[in-house]
Amino acid sequence: MIAVLKPSVTDEQLDHFVSWVEAKGLKAHLSRGDEEIIVGLVGDTTKVDPFLLESMDIVERVQRVSEPFKKANRKFHPEDTVVDCGFGVKIGGGNFAVIAGPCAVEGRNLIDICRATKAAGAKMIRGGAYKPRTSPYANQGMGPAGLDLLCEAREELQMPVCTEIMDVRDLPLFLEKGIDVLQVGARNAQNFPLLKELGKTDKPILLKRGMSETVDEWLMAAEYIMSEGNGNVILCERGIRTFETRTRNTLDLNAVPVVHYLSHLPVVADPSHGTGYTRYVTPMACAATAAGADGLEIEVHDNPQAAWSDGAQALTPAQFDRAMEQIAIIRSAITTGDAQEA
Ligand code: PEP
Ligand code: MN
Repeated sequence: MIAVLKPSVTDEQLDHFVSWVEAKGLKAHLSRGDEEIIVGLVGDTTKVDPFLLESMDIVERVQRVSEPFKKANRKFHPEDTVVDCGFGVKIGGGNFAVIAGPCAVEGRNLIDICRATKAAGAKMIRGGAYKPRTSPYANQGMGPAGLDLLCEAREELQMPVCTEIMDVRDLPLFLEKGIDVLQVGARNAQNFPLLKELGKTDKPILLKRGMSETVDEWLMAAEYIMSEGNGNVILCERGIRTFETRTRNTLDLNAVPVVHYLSHLPVVADPSHGTGYTRYVTPMACAATAAGADGLEIEVHDNPQAAWSDGAQALTPAQFDRAMEQIAIIRSAITTGDAQEA
């Protein structure tokens, strides 16, 4: 971190500033120019608040040199992280997997839907048993019975399941049921106590981007999980809120190469929540694949008109099948011989 001090700074103020920096366990490297004094703060600056520094009268401006995310940073971990989701399904480092299923677990149709998505090439089951609904009066999900159905689908289809955990108090139940991948939804993307508890497990975590999160904030959320010891984080771009109203969200596909540049963690895209309308899901699934996403999460329903939630963005199994054909063509066009299909 670099602090540029105002030219008017007195020796006494400078001494005081250097003592302040040293008291934080950092070294202060001074460089005096004609116009300004530049102080390099060397050491672990993760606990220094740049806004506090900038608020000091003698400080002109402050610049971070290194990113605050360390464990998620590609600089300190150049190789891609590969997350093992169970049943031989891997995501990241050339391994691509599609997670598919209904928005909500509604009953036994989950197994039929996922049998169809598996036949089309999906590698993981999705379905929410605990649903974060905007209205408290809307269906909140099946709860534990929904987890049981997911487990049944998992055993029958021999595929890992990915489902959302909303409340830290549900974690023992998710672990007891052996849920393979725990999803953190957009609404909980910065629920730090939840992220910390998930960080104490060794479960793969699908961490969705918050609807108004910057990429840096998203990576800091991943850092919360990783700093507790769990490196199995898969990031999921699911669209952000912009001024656009023609789609539910704006799927930020810039984020895919940006995350790959900044971080070694895999990033998957969710074109269902990213667009909100069935008609746009396949084109954006293809676009995300072309942008280098390590996987996709897609909502599929056997009868979208009757879905408990998100029917407007669900693909039917037949539409999903066609989408998967296009996705496979794009994957083969952009991957080199050593990349694998999970
Ligand atoms: C979901 O996956 O069904 C979901 C609620 O997603 P998000 O948290 O991205 O809105
Ligand atoms: Mn949904």
